[in-house]
Amino acid sequence: MVEPQAAVTDAANLEVAPAQMRAMGHAVVERAVQHLASLDRQPSRGDMDAAALCRALREPVPEQGIALEPLLDLLFDELIPRSFTTPGPGYLAYIPGGGVYPAALADFIADTTNRYTGVWQASPALVQLEANVLDWLRDWMCFPPEGSGLLTAGGSMATFNAILCARERYLGTEIRRGTLYTSDQAHHSVEKSAKLAGIFHDRVRVIASDAQFRMRVDALEAAMAADRAAGLQPFLVVSSAGTTNTGAVDPLDAVADVCGRHGAWHHVDGAYGAFFHACPELRPLLAGLPRADSLTLDPHKGMFLPYGTGALLVRDGSALRAVHSATAGYLPAQQDEFYDPSQHGPELSRGFPGLRVWMALKMFGAARYRAAIAEKRALAVWAAERVAQIPGIVMDAWPQLSLFAFHVEGPQLATQEARNAATAELMERVTARGRVMLTGCTVDGRHLARVCVLSFRTRAGEMAACVDQLAEETAQILARQDPSSRV
Ligand SMILES: *Cc1c(COP(=O)(O)O)cnc(C)c1O
Repeated sequence: MVEPQAAVTDAANLEVAPAQMRAMGHAVVERAVQHLASLDRQPSRGDMDAAALCRALREPVPEQGIALEPLLDLLFDELIPRSFTTPGPGYLAYIPGGGVYPAALADFIADTTNRYTGVWQASPALVQLEANVLDWLRDWMCFPPEGSGLLTAGGSMATFNAILCARERYLGTEIRRGTLYTSDQAHHSVEKSAKLAGIFHDRVRVIASDAQFRMRVDALEAAMAADRAAGLQPFLVVSSAGTTNTGAVDPLDAVADVCGRHGAWHHVDGAYGAFFHACPELRPLLAGLPRADSLTLDPHKGMFLPYGTGALLVRDGSALRAVHSATAGYLPAQQDEFYDPSQHGPELSRGFPGLRVWMALKMFGAARYRAAIAEKRALAVWAAERVAQIPGIVMDAWPQLSLFAFHVEGPQLATQEARNAATAELMERVTARGRVMLTGCTVDGRHLARVCVLSFRTRAGEMAACVDQLAEETAQILARQDPSSRV
């Protein structure tokens, strides 16, 4: 039994003795590894009946400490199972993550050594690892050497910082002059980040998308021209390299051309899709991406890291510095040679997000990352071809990257409501079986089922099960709704 509070004689001493630290560490690793080893047997959606449990969990601050073991029991036996099994192989919902093990070890090292990576002078060699990571991401995305970047808590914060760069460069203090453009398929974090950056909804233009859910460049150009004629300044277009709804990639090259003509910043939201650019053979799917002024990436999606790491790349690194560079009498003097996180982002004290990216890439190597990323796309293409053959399934979006969307149709599903209900029921029935989890999206009143393959743990077995279960459940839904059938 690991009991750090045992024999507390000196209450003010929070240090844990080395033998105890080891015992506690072993206990945690043991539980975590048991958990990971059983992921493929855990229900894909988890046991989500948790409201009563949440109420029961409310408690005042504990006055006295307790041992580690009961806390591990509570976490691993009671709380963790009551969540979506996001690290599991069957998680095909939303945009999957994963959580590679080396990143967890990196977090442990970062947290136990607790060095200060906010300013370069406090841990120059560690900050250099973060600079290396940003350089590696930059190379994968084929951004120029003068580019710079920032590790963030996620994609939303990356996009927020990109909007700040564009605002600072083009609007200065005249924020109300500027207009921002994004498609009706953009992630909601774009509008949210715009608001945080002082670009309110009356300056955000939502551009229609085409039948493949890609931003219509003619509509974009027309909207920018209209705003300019009205005395406003079109300063920023946010396009998507893989939308969350259907995985659509906007025509990035054409959008870059429009931005060039209008003197506007082009930000690409690649939170879902950017890492496919790490694979040279997949780069044509994201043509034009390296021309962006800035790019959101989400290592906690496409690099399979645990949640908590997004990234921003900026083509002209000085734009990030222009927004964030600041000093104070109690800080070391600024230097120019080395990357300095607090000069490129809004935070001062922070964790060490670079270490988890660095450890994962050093331990797996880029080649294995490319293989895993390419496999996720291949699995999605393989599954989409088979799902499209299922009687009653109509494909709405083929995988441009690793996500496809579809709905249920049948002669007895005469209305949009009936098709929406059948499509939602299909996802629910498949998810309830526990092997894979699917979620849908609503586009223009149409409910679409989605399959998104981006967990490193998802392999051929899960995809075959997904296809089979979709076929079985679709047949049952259509049979039941056929008035001639007696099922
Ligand atoms: C996930 C996602 C985001 C938001 O990223 P977070 O890391 O959740 O903040 C933004 N855009 C797209 C396309 C996404 O898939």
